[in-house]
Amino acid sequence: MKNLTLEHIAAACHGTYRGPEEKKAVCVTSIITDSRKAEEGCLFVPIKGARVDAHEFIDGVMGAGALCTLSEQDLGDKEYPWIQVASSLQAVKDIAAYYLRQLKIPVVGITGSVGKTSTKEMIAAVLAQKYEVLKTQGNFNNELGLPLTIFRLREEHEIAVLEMGISDFGEMHRLAGIARPETCVITNIGYCHLEFLKSRDGVLKAKTEIFDYLEETGHIILNGDDDKLSSVGEVKGVRPEFFGIQNQEGLYADEIESRGLQGVSCRIHMDDSSFQVLIPLPGQHMVYNALAGAAVGRVYGLTAEQIKAGIESLQPLSGRFHIIEKNGITVIDDCYNANPVSMKASLELLTDALGRKVAILGDMGELGEREAEMHREVGAFAAALDLDVCVCVGPLSGGMAEAAKLEGTHMKVIHVESLEELLEGLDTIIREGDTILVKASHFMKFEKVVEALTGGR
Ligand code: ATP
Ligand code: MG
Repeated sequence: MKNLTLEHIAAACHGTYRGPEEKKAVCVTSIITDSRKAEEGCLFVPIKGARVDAHEFIDGVMGAGALCTLSEQDLGDKEYPWIQVASSLQAVKDIAAYYLRQLKIPVVGITGSVGKTSTKEMIAAVLAQKYEVLKTQGNFNNELGLPLTIFRLREEHEIAVLEMGISDFGEMHRLAGIARPETCVITNIGYCHLEFLKSRDGVLKAKTEIFDYLEETGHIILNGDDDKLSSVGEVKGVRPEFFGIQNQEGLYADEIESRGLQGVSCRIHMDDSSFQVLIPLPGQHMVYNALAGAAVGRVYGLTAEQIKAGIESLQPLSGRFHIIEKNGITVIDDCYNANPVSMKASLELLTDALGRKVAILGDMGELGEREAEMHREVGAFAAALDLDVCVCVGPLSGGMAEAAKLEGTHMKVIHVESLEELLEGLDTIIREGDTILVKASHFMKFEKVVEALTGGR
């Protein structure tokens, strides 16, 4: 890893190097926090978790060929080099920040309340038409995930597309300090993490900390259809570039047509020209993600043809509206996460399905004081769509079920208290030919529902 000698690492994380002089100038080949990933030449960073303190794996990792380890504890004289630090977690962030500066690779940072991962995938798919891209894997977007992503960068990469997620004030400031995004993208400002951020204005304030390290030559790319984001003005001489659907100026899309569960097509207008594109994932929200992809593609000099090809090359991600046809049914695996906005968007998409439309919806977490009301809203929304069956799972979803019944549609509404109860009764609910949307917050573990539906039944 470029310039990551043990000496530089110790300096970057304000640690004390303990080991033979001659090893100080050796570079590490990788950096790991998971002891099972130990390999020749790596640096091990043991992190104290709630249940396990990874310091206990140090000897094992060193035995597996690691070059060096950090340690918060005094290991004394060892036959291997080690670096004493006050906090491993802080060290990981400091080393990541240092390493990124050595590589001088431009970073596109993506945040927002909903759609970060989807937008990140879209932007990476677009940029991959011209560059060697490193993107955040899955959802590694927090103060540990971001450094671990940065450690996957190598000199052959030309650009990094990094997801940045937060739940409190100050966190984005720290993430931005590590990643120093040259281009900052914000998808929207919604009702997430309200237990700390209180209101959408709080969310806006926390997310816009992403600009804290912006340089004059940087770029800000915002969803102009979001009332909070559209109010963002110039930051450090950088004027935000807006994209949207509602305002037909600048970078925008029109001629939006759903192709059912196969995707959505639209025309993207950019710099006095336009092109038609088929986004291979369904949902109007994907048009926003494609626009963000186009905006970033434009910043980095891609042609309209390259942007179109990038958008059309997008692959579905498991857990995010991933359509699986198996066992005579169609399962929409959207179990990765949920909030009221994405619940409603997915329910609307379900109406495009053929056959019976079944929604299995679980509790949504982190909604703050209005959580009960928000669950009811989703229930009423589902009822208004005239679905066939709505199964509400979990204690909070009791209100969802009640609201769904009150609308007085013919939709069959079932409420169960737990995942276990749902799994037991699943066979009695599902029929051949059904299309089933499976969606809840992550903690509900709805991947088990997808497994049960798509496994060997
Ligand atoms: P997390 O906070 O868990 O990292 P995220 O912000 O990365 O979430 P995604 O995982 O991309 O969000 O998407 C979450 C849900 O929102 C998915 O169900 C997806 O269908 C929907 N979604 C994706 N993009 C958008 C968008 N631009 N606007 C609204 N909803 C979206
Ligand atoms: Mg994400």
